[in-house]
Amino acid sequence: MGVEMLRTFLTLGLCASAGYFLAASMTTDSISARARKLHFSSIVVDTHDDTTQRFLDGKFDIGVRNPKGSIDIPRLREGGLTAIFFSIWIPSKITGLEAVHRANVQIEAVREQVSTHRKELALCTTASEVRTAKKQGKIAALMGVEGGHMINSDLDVLRKFALLGVRYMTLTHSGNDEWADASTDKPAHNGLTDFGKDVVREMNRLGVMVDVSHVSDKTFYDALEASKAPLIASHSSCRALCDAARNMTDQMMKDLAAKGGVIQINYHVGFLSQEFRNAEKAHPEWEQAIAAEVRKACGDNEACQLIEGDRVTREYVEQGKLPRVNWTVILDHINHAVKAAGIDHVGLGSDFDGANMPYGMEDASKLPKITEALLKKGYSEDDVKKILGENTLRVMAEVERVSHEMNASRK
Ligand SMILES: [Zn+2]
Repeated sequence: MGVEMLRTFLTLGLCASAGYFLAASMTTDSISARARKLHFSSIVVDTHDDTTQRFLDGKFDIGVRNPKGSIDIPRLREGGLTAIFFSIWIPSKITGLEAVHRANVQIEAVREQVSTHRKELALCTTASEVRTAKKQGKIAALMGVEGGHMINSDLDVLRKFALLGVRYMTLTHSGNDEWADASTDKPAHNGLTDFGKDVVREMNRLGVMVDVSHVSDKTFYDALEASKAPLIASHSSCRALCDAARNMTDQMMKDLAAKGGVIQINYHVGFLSQEFRNAEKAHPEWEQAIAAEVRKACGDNEACQLIEGDRVTREYVEQGKLPRVNWTVILDHINHAVKAAGIDHVGLGSDFDGANMPYGMEDASKLPKITEALLKKGYSEDDVKKILGENTLRVMAEVERVSHEMNASRK
């Protein structure tokens, strides 16, 4: 088992907290009337959720409240979420036609969930469709492909993903793909290859947002230069506060913002808390023990690994081995990103159902707490709306505009 896989286990979800904790935290979550009104009237977008893995497990029903995990329709409603990007994800080591096939299976699974719950969910592909869904009282479901390895170096596959409704692609996952370097792998291409730049331009033409979470710093700058449209970092946090290679430096955030892009803050404790990272690093044997326990319980079942990884990691926190990270650290990263990039360039990308959530942000129902905290911190209502979702919709609309322009000039 490689380091990547071990790390994957540890960075897999810790969303299913012990029942007693949930009960305790619920009683203390008081949201003011002003925050509640603002939150539920706003466009709230989450650009990264890994719930798709659970769709592959035939027993999961997103329509009912689940005791495990972070996402289902009842809790999306409680959290006032307008739009959710379901991640199409397979590990970087799976490549070739198998990667394409498995991505297609997941796209189909998302579309199937939306059609099963069509009274509650609407498959959306544009910013204006998201606004329409909100007006109709539906939750907008969108898709992002997390890793360029899933196109098998074939622009036709990318075009088919776009046709099926995919609206962003993360250029890499944790390992390099054939045409782009990842932040957590040895550099092999010095950023983006020439073909990688073609991929970015074709994404621009198709109206698929270019996502730079997970990529190396050089890949980020190559993509920034190649892209005719603003970029997103769908689930990244601030490296100045937590030194993870896949977080963004202040300079990167400034440069992303200068081209109109948005960083959507990730809630994973290992990307938010330096203390948590240090504890992980100091005790690699815990990481291995957690991985072994998860493998024993789940084998290769990734949906099971998400839930079990959660549960076991939180046991280590309860035992005092790993530090307990409070949800307010998300606010620290939002504030820092606003200072570095500006109020128009920050959004939310939780990584729910795919990462270890901090205490107090166990699931989507907790989101109004972010609005409450931002108001308390002194943000104006308009600025809160920008962070909650307006910034992300602005990038979507701009990406659509660039796509129309490029297609028109080809005629
Ligand atoms: Zn990710």
